[in-house]
Amino acid sequence: MIPDRIQFYIGGAWTAPVSPARLSVENPATEQAIALIALGMDADIDAAVASARAAFPDWAATRPAERRAVLERVLEVTRARQADLARTITAEMGAPATMAFEEQAAVGVSHLEGFLAAFDEIPWQERLPNGTVIRREPIGVCGLITPWNWPINQIALKVLPAIATGCTCVLKPSELTPLSAMLYMEILDEAGVPAGVVNLVNGSGPVAGAALSRHPDVDMMSFTGSTRGGTAVSRDAAATVKRVTLELGGKSPNLVFADCGADLKARVAASAAECFLNSGQSCDAPTRMLVERSVYDTACEIAARVADETIVGDPTVEGDRMGPLVSAAQWSRVQGYIDGARTEGARLIAGGPGRPEGVNRGHFARPTVFADVTPDHTIWREEVFGPVLAITPFADEAEAVRLANDTDYGLAAYLQTGDPARAARVAAALRAGMVHVNGTPQSPGSPFGGYSMSGTGREGGLFGLEEYLEIKALHMPAGWN
Ligand code: NAD
Repeated sequence: MIPDRIQFYIGGAWTAPVSPARLSVENPATEQAIALIALGMDADIDAAVASARAAFPDWAATRPAERRAVLERVLEVTRARQADLARTITAEMGAPATMAFEEQAAVGVSHLEGFLAAFDEIPWQERLPNGTVIRREPIGVCGLITPWNWPINQIALKVLPAIATGCTCVLKPSELTPLSAMLYMEILDEAGVPAGVVNLVNGSGPVAGAALSRHPDVDMMSFTGSTRGGTAVSRDAAATVKRVTLELGGKSPNLVFADCGADLKARVAASAAECFLNSGQSCDAPTRMLVERSVYDTACEIAARVADETIVGDPTVEGDRMGPLVSAAQWSRVQGYIDGARTEGARLIAGGPGRPEGVNRGHFARPTVFADVTPDHTIWREEVFGPVLAITPFADEAEAVRLANDTDYGLAAYLQTGDPARAARVAAALRAGMVHVNGTPQSPGSPFGGYSMSGTGREGGLFGLEEYLEIKALHMPAGWN
């Protein structure tokens, strides 16, 4: 019997859905159903928004120190439940156990630490040199829509700043990963987040997500997902003039210069491994490797070896490995890109179509590398969202920058070089929201987000908190405040 998880978290209680629609949640490694959820409709969204609206005045009126205390308790409970979160993420989307614990679930803790560090820097009230008093106030009821690929990461980046700033919210997580989202509600509940401050309704994007985006009593929408979903949310939110922040896809370039010298092997190997992390299902994955021609053949060999040596298999086993793709639909989509790249003339140097040898169950794909990819190829332009690396040679720095910026996206960019002056020059020329030099990772509290079709917002730390605040200018007689 499949466990029944059909309730929604509304007003601080697990509540029966109005909607009769149901969906079974699949484990992508075993293709077994692991839970049954309800798919919310307009009436379910109405109930959750009403609960958030009712909770807003009291929560907005709390002192920052009270909200900080609640967040500190959330931090404690998240730490205590990190292993549960990791196991749930592995079961519902296939992230391998070690990575699920050390990265997928761990960011629930590190993002909160980043928000807490930034929290005390918010100038809730300040006076401009011209005498005007500026107040920062919570924007109101927020609609939060999240994807399946880093489920707790996206939820933490939205729910936590909403709580911190005095907003209330309704979360509609991905219908593919509802179980970690429901577990996160248990964490917030146990930590004492007051009833109605955070509410959850499961459901599909076009029904529950659209109902939330259109809802007249929602003041802001924060969306992470595909560009197609983001534009739909923007359209649905336009009639009621909501603030909309979007975190969308990417096709991030990784510029590898010959001046890496002795570090070349390590830098290329780490870059390829990062492309395959999470089975390639990361919005900021370095999927386009641009390599200086004099080291191009060597880089291709190293990347192909990393692909060949990547262990693909059961995600419940500890250690470095790659799990399945999230769903049968995602597997087919990735196969389509691999077939298309071969037809269009890219040179396959590792992996390829189908499941890895000996695997006959689960949505497992092969870590795949194409060399000689050009801007005419579909995998240059479109986000594959699978373990597929595209490699292209360049002649000089100017061509590298031109190729890197030849994309509709602008989320992340990566740079491998031994020359600090080049790093500064190239980083300034790249049109991307985040530039990583020589594998330097994102620190908690740094802004995450992109240029252009990659979105409109920044999440994490102080920048992420500001997204949830309204600015009020108070023009008062001198000496009053
Ligand atoms: P998706 O757009 O299909 O779904 C994301 C969420 O949006 C889900 O909850 C879905 O139900 C909902 N949704 C879909 N259509 C909707 C609509 N018309 N109205 C309202 N809600 C709708 O994306 P996905 O396949 O779940 O996630 C993968 C995508 O997310 C990739 O493109 C990836 O790059 C992107 N992503 C971006 C970031 C970032 O921070 N920039 C982070 C993670 C993922």
